[in-house]
Amino acid sequence: MEVITGVRKMQQKAEELRLSRKILSFVPTMGFFHEGHLELMRVAKRHSDVVTISIFVNPMQFGPAEDLSTYPRDLEGDLSNAGQEGVDFAFVPSVKELYPEGFETKVSVEKLTKHLCGLQRPTHFDGVTTVVAKLFNIIKPHLAVFGQKDFQQLAVISRMAEDLNMDIRIVGVPTVREADGVAMSSRNAYLSPEGRKSALCLKKSIDLAREMVHQGERKSDRIIKAIENLILGHPYTQIDYVTLCDPVTLEDLETVAAETLLALAVKVGKTRLIDNGLLVRDEKK
Ligand code: AMP
Repeated sequence: MEVITGVRKMQQKAEELRLSRKILSFVPTMGFFHEGHLELMRVAKRHSDVVTISIFVNPMQFGPAEDLSTYPRDLEGDLSNAGQEGVDFAFVPSVKELYPEGFETKVSVEKLTKHLCGLQRPTHFDGVTTVVAKLFNIIKPHLAVFGQKDFQQLAVISRMAEDLNMDIRIVGVPTVREADGVAMSSRNAYLSPEGRKSALCLKKSIDLAREMVHQGERKSDRIIKAIENLILGHPYTQIDYVTLCDPVTLEDLETVAAETLLALAVKVGKTRLIDNGLLVRDEKK
């Protein structure tokens, strides 16, 4: 695996590969890899000839009170893991390389970013779309792979790619979980042993909502109430949001539709965790 830090060098490499008619895939990450990241790389490999990943903790997507300075990092371990997965190129730019003096452009998706995480993190998605648009221009992929764990991010990126005619296929990968159901996340590293137990409440909430819908419940407020009780029964939890929404527009739904997304953000201690699951209505009920 070749590690590239310069924008120009990466662009030249991508151009060469495109001219040699290779199918290029891309997996953007902030590093500190777990099985979720590695699964994205495997999917990318199955769909392409050349896999490029990026490792970049993007300051633009962190709010002023967020965990930019403490975000977990392990570049050496990450490069070794990516190499073992058969990744071809790792693009690892510095902050200065991506945001040089004079940088002032922003890519912004207007409506999808106003829901869910956008309520508490109003500038987050502009940071994500801006850096991903830049990375797409640098790595020139035919397809890019994202996790469904960050469902809203996947929706926002898909919107951006379509709206800006980017000619890049956006591929979503189902959430990879620990054996007990907790969604893998770099931020799980922050959890204390007690917090780790409480983190189970997110997946339990998805299971509970699915069971209620299976039993015939259609009222969103009743499902939300039951989930809030479940979450608050776990120590150190604080609810950011519990929302039933349309999986395409992310608009709130008062009643469960044929396909409804349950999206959750819960603080466990100081660690903000997100998870989501699709609720599929059993038409006989
Ligand atoms: P991050 O490094 O947190 O920015 O994540 C990089 C990519 O990995 C994003 O597309 C995430 O959605 C994806 N990802 C993170 N956690 C998981 C997971 N547990 N399962 C699948 N994909 C994930």
